[in-house]
Amino acid sequence: MSKVMAVNCGSSSLKFKLYEMPEEVVICSGIVERIGHEDGIFQLKYKGKNNKKIVPVKDHAVAVNLVMEALVEEHIIKDLNEIKATGHRVVQGGPYFKESTEFNEDTVEKIRSLIPLAPLHNQAHLTGFEAFKKVLPNTPAIAVFDTAFHQTMEEEDYLFPIPKEYSDKYLIRRYGAHGTSHKYLSQKGEEYIPNSKDKKMIICHLGSGASITATKNGKCVATSMGLTPLGGIMMNSRTGDMDPSVYYQLLKVTGKDNETLFQELNKKSGLYGVSEVSNDSRDIETKSKEGDKNSIIAMKLWARRVADYIGQYYVRLGGCDLIIFSAGIGENASTYRELALKNIEEALNLKIDYKLNKELPCGKEAVLSKEDSPIKVVIIPTDEEVMIARDAYALLLKKEKTC
Ligand code: ADP
Repeated sequence: MSKVMAVNCGSSSLKFKLYEMPEEVVICSGIVERIGHEDGIFQLKYKGKNNKKIVPVKDHAVAVNLVMEALVEEHIIKDLNEIKATGHRVVQGGPYFKESTEFNEDTVEKIRSLIPLAPLHNQAHLTGFEAFKKVLPNTPAIAVFDTAFHQTMEEEDYLFPIPKEYSDKYLIRRYGAHGTSHKYLSQKGEEYIPNSKDKKMIICHLGSGASITATKNGKCVATSMGLTPLGGIMMNSRTGDMDPSVYYQLLKVTGKDNETLFQELNKKSGLYGVSEVSNDSRDIETKSKEGDKNSIIAMKLWARRVADYIGQYYVRLGGCDLIIFSAGIGENASTYRELALKNIEEALNLKIDYKLNKELPCGKEAVLSKEDSPIKVVIIPTDEEVMIARDAYALLLKKEKTC
């Protein structure tokens, strides 16, 4: 038995889960938020308790120290050497990483070189990694890339139709995101279609950030997010795909600068932008039930965009055995699921148990399709952290073997 930690460092937060491996038992989990502030928030969940305190958290190093001290104080570990490996989520691995990779100088340099493609994320991951390295200098660490799972796409699926020179010189292409989630779901999804030859799946990771992936035999064939998480389906506050000239025209008519407009497309658009209500899909649903016209059309637009991708991927895969709904909206929001399904059921001949869809408790794994549906439709809660822990544990085993 070995303890490994899955880490997700953002620019102002640090999330972690400590696992007992290979059993995959979660020992504790927690989050440090508002890093860089006097009133940072540190929460530790352990044995059913949720301890929360407000403390100054100057930087990521302070955040990591807070976590480590708490683990010892709460007698979760006796000393830091008990943590045998760490796994760090990295959003952008560019064309370099097809799988999780041990942190070394080369890995760090490549992640650094990709900062322009994911400015907030990759910088934060490196800062977090350095902070962990200070307290656990001899503990092996692995980088687990959101983009790695999508590296199996063919050129005609990942290239954008821009001058080839730009794709080559500036690494401008589709990388996708949520790859760790899509990989987990594609593996878990196999349990539902044991007799399928090609295991064709359309996986809908519908959180506040959302992406849809087509997989065949456990490999990514196509994915909706693009160069950055702005691409693909409409999201809580992001536009998803649209005619690039919308951006150009908005620059001209609003007189706003590039950066402001780009931020608006990321943070003030999508469900939020169209409804003018909030960037939380729950608020928009509430408003739509009250008859708010903008919220109603926002939800309809969202469902259409989801349906567009499912249709596209059905064709791309030459059929489909399994459609998976997952993440915040996919796991919890029956109304959004129903809207999306109503848009695709006729073409795909789906037979859906809408009563079950409505009555299911939030976050429950379930089959939504009826026996006679040619495509199974399921809800599977995602688990990106366990994938990170698995890769960290695999690295540990590899290290032990070579010692
Ligand atoms: P992310 O990691 O992208 O922030 P999550 O997968 O955790 O997203 O999803 C969070 C989002 O899920 C929330 O912003 C909210 O919009 C949506 N969500 C969660 N529960 C529900 C629900 N019961 N109904 C509608 N939307 C929900």
